[in-house]
Amino acid sequence: MTQKLRDNEVAVATDAPRDAALHFIGRIRTPFTRRDLCPRQGRLDGPDCRLVLDAPWAAGLAGLERYEFADVLYWLHESRRDLVLQSPRSDGAVRGVFSLRSPVRPNPIGLSKVAILRIEGPEVIVRGLDCLDGTPLIDLKPDRCAYTIAAPDKPADRSP
Ligand code: SAM
Repeated sequence: MTQKLRDNEVAVATDAPRDAALHFIGRIRTPFTRRDLCPRQGRLDGPDCRLVLDAPWAAGLAGLERYEFADVLYWLHESRRDLVLQSPRSDGAVRGVFSLRSPVRPNPIGLSKVAILRIEGPEVIVRGLDCLDGTPLIDLKPDRCAYTIAAPDKPADRSP
C-alpha cells in the first residue's frame, strides 16, 4: 500500500517482498476501523479487544489462563515497507526507521504487551492493543516464563 511521503522522508528501492512463510494464526478484532482512530501505542486501560485464533490453533491456548500479561505479535498489513527515513511528526525532521516504533518498516511486525482479561474458547480478550480491526495475528506468548532472567536496572531512557 503506497502512502504519500512527507517532507524529507526517504524511500528505498527494495526487492519485491518474498514470502517469509509466516502462518497467520488468527485475526485481531478491535474497535479501531481506521488507522487514524488507532492509538499510537496500546494502553492497558484501553478498550477490550479480541484475539480470535483460527480453529487449529485454539488448543494452543491451554495454560495461558495462568498469566496476567502477554506479548502479542501482529502483521501491520496496511503499512508500506520501503521508508528508511521517516518524519513521524510531519514537520520535516527525519529519523531512521530503526529508531522508531513506526508501523512503516521493512517487515511490519507490531508488538504490544497486553493484559489478559479472559479466554472464551478460541478467543482471548485483552487490553493494550493499537491495531486496526482485522489485523493478522502472528503470535502470542506469556510476557515471562519460568526461566525469565530478572533484568538488571535499566539505564535511563535516552529517547528525545
Ligand atoms: N505497538 C506496536 C509496536 O510498537 O510495535 C505498533 C505501534 S504503531 C506506532 C501503531 C500504529 O500503527 C497505529 O496508531 C496505526 O496508525 C498503525 N496501524 C495499526 N494497525 C495497522 C495495520 N494493520 N496496518 C498498518 N498500520 C496499522
